[in-house]
Amino acid sequence: MALVLLGVAPLGGENQRSSAAEPVPALSPFVDVHAHLEPADPAHSVQAALRAMTVENAAKIVFMPPPFTADDPARYDAEIILAAAKGQDKLAVLGGGGTLNAMIQQSARTGDAGPEIRRKFKERAEELLRLGAVGFGELTAEHFQGVTPYQSAPPDHPLFLLLADIAAEHGVPIDLHMEALPQPIPLPAPMKSPPNPPQLRANIAAFERLLDHNPRARIIWAHAGWDNTGYRTPGLCRRLLQAHPNLYMDVKIDPLKPGKNSPLANGAGGAIKPEWLQLFQDFPDRFVVGTDQHYPEPLPGPQRWEAVVLLLNQLPDGLRQKMAMENAERIYAHKLDATPH
Ligand SMILES: [Zn+2]
Ligand SMILES: [Zn+2]
Repeated sequence: MALVLLGVAPLGGENQRSSAAEPVPALSPFVDVHAHLEPADPAHSVQAALRAMTVENAAKIVFMPPPFTADDPARYDAEIILAAAKGQDKLAVLGGGGTLNAMIQQSARTGDAGPEIRRKFKERAEELLRLGAVGFGELTAEHFQGVTPYQSAPPDHPLFLLLADIAAEHGVPIDLHMEALPQPIPLPAPMKSPPNPPQLRANIAAFERLLDHNPRARIIWAHAGWDNTGYRTPGLCRRLLQAHPNLYMDVKIDPLKPGKNSPLANGAGGAIKPEWLQLFQDFPDRFVVGTDQHYPEPLPGPQRWEAVVLLLNQLPDGLRQKMAMENAERIYAHKLDATPH
């Protein structure tokens, strides 16, 4: 549960920056491992991102398609991002949101995870890496309705286990969006049903089976700090990080929709909460920054990257270096250094 901390003075005092105020850049360069673009005009998105990086003090941005279902007419995958990012050494690309995730969701629905589906899945995963993707994302095991429809698949589904094996074999990570559900619960407010189901299935035990399935597979559980169920507490994150050395987390803070467990006080505009700082300090090698920023930047209002930078800028120097740069370089096995093909 979110802890309201009395006596912690919010930095700046308000979480909406006025249009006159300049955004504050990161104190040291950072890698943003989770961002999205506008598929109708990827080239324009890339230009917007490159301009923003100077303002943010971002060294690298990893773009990925969101997790799509098979019948979504808006579905796209890494190809259009790779084409737009061609030759840009500050950008990298994950793939699979538009195809591998769609196959997982479909297989979870039909119950068919037979040899033919597995063969096609593996072929597509390896094709994405050949094309220049540096890992797999954005996949989902539990995703509320947003730009994409409600999606749910067991995190230990045979195709997720297969993807862990492929990721381990090729030394690339998986970026997984999964609302935290230690037990079955009714849909929490303010989510609405429909379009989301009235009851949600548990997923944490199955997630732990995925993590244990192949300890060489590096799995980034996306959006730490942006919790829509109330269960993604620092306590749950701590227990899972302790139990599973191949688990990593990227930190997202949405100033317009901070969720139920923001690491920052005052919604998403204040001081870092002590229980989150302690978690980062106790697992300094396991957190990275994944803003979930969209480019071009949506207007109006403060951007997601600004809230994450507000957190980074409050960290002690050594910890900030790790969360901002070193961890991402290690998790991506220095593939972020390579220019997309
Ligand atoms: Zn997500
Ligand atoms: Zn995302």
